[in-house]
Amino acid sequence: MSRTRTSHDVSELLTKARAGDARSVARLITLVEDASPLLREVMTALTPHSGHAHIVGITGSPGVGKSTSTSALVGALRAAGKRVGVLAVDPSSPFSGGALLGDRVRMQEHALDPGVFIRSMASRGHLGGLSWAAPQAMRVLDAAGCDVILVETVGVGQSEVEIAGLADTTLVLLAPGMGDGIQAAKAGILEIGDIYVINKAEREGADQVRRELRSMISLGHRDEGQWTQPILKTTAVSGEGVPEVAVALSQHLEWLTESGELKRRRLRRTRAEIEAIALTSLREHWAGLSGHESLGLLSERVLEGGLDVYSAADELLANATG
Ligand code: GDP
Repeated sequence: MSRTRTSHDVSELLTKARAGDARSVARLITLVEDASPLLREVMTALTPHSGHAHIVGITGSPGVGKSTSTSALVGALRAAGKRVGVLAVDPSSPFSGGALLGDRVRMQEHALDPGVFIRSMASRGHLGGLSWAAPQAMRVLDAAGCDVILVETVGVGQSEVEIAGLADTTLVLLAPGMGDGIQAAKAGILEIGDIYVINKAEREGADQVRRELRSMISLGHRDEGQWTQPILKTTAVSGEGVPEVAVALSQHLEWLTESGELKRRRLRRTRAEIEAIALTSLREHWAGLSGHESLGLLSERVLEGGLDVYSAADELLANATG
């Protein structure tokens, strides 16, 4: 983008995005990614139009079939008449702008469907990482009329739990032959899954993984009226079992809505988002301070013995705004 965007561009982009124009949606997400100064304006305009989309996080070890499953799920959701957004987040990559998904051949079949928005996003460059940028990109997709937004993590990292924090529904993928049963327990994945999918189900060992998982899940205490996590089997490469996953997603959304859990999860998320933004501006503010109140000088005073760390923190907090 060679020229600077103006407020006028933003309102035009929003209008077009809300009418389903994919390029405008992509540009708005770029504004998020670049932490554009226009972002505040974009969010003000988008917020009244968000809250419709069902946010689904897809997580699992690399190679388990996340990207194949996401693509197959897009197909199943489209067949059910839903508009779908896909946000592939790579918390470990500094690259952005759709480069990753460009390589992801499996998504190509949906590239020309006007009812599907696909976007990848890197978040390492951001203070606050995923918690800061991903929710805003999701808000863009939401306002653009997506019924379901699939958020997939690309790359390796400690992002599983983070993704779960972003979603209404978390789908955990496992596969036979990957030692996933034990891995799941280790990674704390049992606490975050709303729906479990054993992919590569045509392979030997799928039923064994399912049994292990079932027994681990049923060890946990469950109150009356709680959601019972289903364990489904898919062969993502052929699409077998995938429509059932789409059905389970709608059932979970229904349960979330009726139980009040949807509101609770969204409130928790929004709190985290506000906090991340506030902490980011606080850090930026402190980084911009100079003179006796700067963090550098406070540190020197502590080292010289003239100030203790608590009093230094008090001085810093006294300069929290302005
Ligand atoms: P990701 O790293 O979790 O996104 O996994 P991918 O979707 O890239 O899949 C990893 C590999 O598993 C690819 O070679 C896929 O073709 C393959 N794969 C995905 N789903 C299935 C499946 O249901 N059965 C088999 N046999 N292979 C699969």
